[in-house]
Amino acid sequence: MWIALDWIERHCVVPDGFRRGAPFLLYRMQGEYLQHFYLVRGDARWIPERPILAPAFVYRRGLLVGPQKVGKNPLIAAQICLEGVGPALFAGWAGRDEGYSCRDHGCRCGWEYAYELGEPKGMAWPTPLVQITAFSEDSTENTYDALRPMIELGPLTDLIPHTGEEFIRLPHGGRIDTVTSSNQSRLGQRITFAPQDELGLWTRQNKMEKVADTQYRNLAGMGGRASLTTNAWDPAERSVAQREFESAAADIYRQFLQPPKNLSFANKVERRKILKLVYPDDTRREHTPPGHVDLDGIESEAADLVEKDLAQAQRFYGNQLVPGAGAAVDPEVWDAQAFPREIEAGTAIGMGFDGSISQDATVLRGCTADGYRFTIGSWVRPVGSAMLAWQATHPGQEWRVSRSEVRDTVTAAFARYRVGKFYCDPWKWETEVGDWQQLYGDEIVLVLDTNSARRFAPVVSRWLTAIREGSTRHDGDPVVAEHVKAAHLRKVHLSGDENDGRTPYLLVKGGDGRKIDGSIADALALEAAMTMLELESIAEPWVLVR
Ligand SMILES: [Zn+2]
Repeated sequence: MWIALDWIERHCVVPDGFRRGAPFLLYRMQGEYLQHFYLVRGDARWIPERPILAPAFVYRRGLLVGPQKVGKNPLIAAQICLEGVGPALFAGWAGRDEGYSCRDHGCRCGWEYAYELGEPKGMAWPTPLVQITAFSEDSTENTYDALRPMIELGPLTDLIPHTGEEFIRLPHGGRIDTVTSSNQSRLGQRITFAPQDELGLWTRQNKMEKVADTQYRNLAGMGGRASLTTNAWDPAERSVAQREFESAAADIYRQFLQPPKNLSFANKVERRKILKLVYPDDTRREHTPPGHVDLDGIESEAADLVEKDLAQAQRFYGNQLVPGAGAAVDPEVWDAQAFPREIEAGTAIGMGFDGSISQDATVLRGCTADGYRFTIGSWVRPVGSAMLAWQATHPGQEWRVSRSEVRDTVTAAFARYRVGKFYCDPWKWETEVGDWQQLYGDEIVLVLDTNSARRFAPVVSRWLTAIREGSTRHDGDPVVAEHVKAAHLRKVHLSGDENDGRTPYLLVKGGDGRKIDGSIADALALEAAMTMLELESIAEPWVLVR
């Protein structure tokens, strides 16, 4: 359906950069994607009173895999415009001298499109409902931020006079909304188009697999379709992107340009070759007409990331499928080790603390001498509707961990248990940790920097072994369970004499950015309990005399 592509180039404008406001000309790879997405089946039959919707097309959905900043977001924004007010549906086969005139569709731009004989004609959705969907708000905002100027700076203002901060109203009761993992309540049933972004981060664990399947089902009911975009994914994550790419379904269009495997992304010269391939020449600045990609800028960002995390650099910029070390713990294994029990006052325990201020969570875990871990306190930033409720009762305030509550909880723990050792990740809590050291002794309260491979890798190793062997139990705390399931491993390198033969790992966030503080506190508590003094020599609980 060529009219779909022509309509985009005529109505959408470049949303940002030097060419802001200029006509949005499709790059080859963008055009190729849309040509396939809007490819009409040769046997599609047109019945005016019962228009054939999604089944008119060869593909039920499309999947575009591309590196960072290659132009996926503007493409999706343009496709949203088309699905919102342009000829996105099949409207029969053209006869002699037929055409499409904007004038007949409420647009005063003056554009007319003459169909060739037998070409598929296009028409707009009567009531388009578009749901911009991604794991994170950042990502839906990227698309939305490209979409608004694309409408506001060009002829589309005629059809869409107002673009709001939260959603966009379309003619005839249509709407463009956004949905993220923390706002799944917005999932509507009557959607006609779902652009799903960062699909490589959508997994069963973070509940986005369910979002994907719900949308596919709802789209099927409405005759709508989904457009899927992502970076190359981590095959260890078993994401929806991977599932859609590997599925046997013939009605999914997949566009994924993978560089040859013999080129090494770690090597500067070969990396350049890879980048030139996955950022095609018409996307680059030096091309005529100029694209938006500055290959040297991309190269320096990629080189930085190669130093920190080669696998991620390959996925982000090299468009290569590279497995990371994967999830730290099998969720089912973790759940099976939950046996909540009461820990009596006076029990000897180790404690682990991972603190944060406003973004992440703060967790204090205890661990008995036989390795049973339990939560003593946890403070988690509320999300979604819980955050809205919090903001309603705290107008104008930023949510923060209550430091006094954390202090009181630590005091109460030292008063209740015989604490043999207490490991603290000190970041942003140096003052409190210093106070605790003074109060309880610096042989009991110890600082452990969880970013230090030398210090933290042996702790992680003990923790992983305990979980894999099933030799310990825990309380099944839902917050800690979420964090443990979100934790990923990153391979690190230790110098020869520090290496005990096992692969050293750190616990890190996965690509979806879910919190992992509870897993770190849990590992620290286990380490504290396994290395604390002989039970007899641990002091009785502390009773503070005020
Ligand atoms: Zn027009």
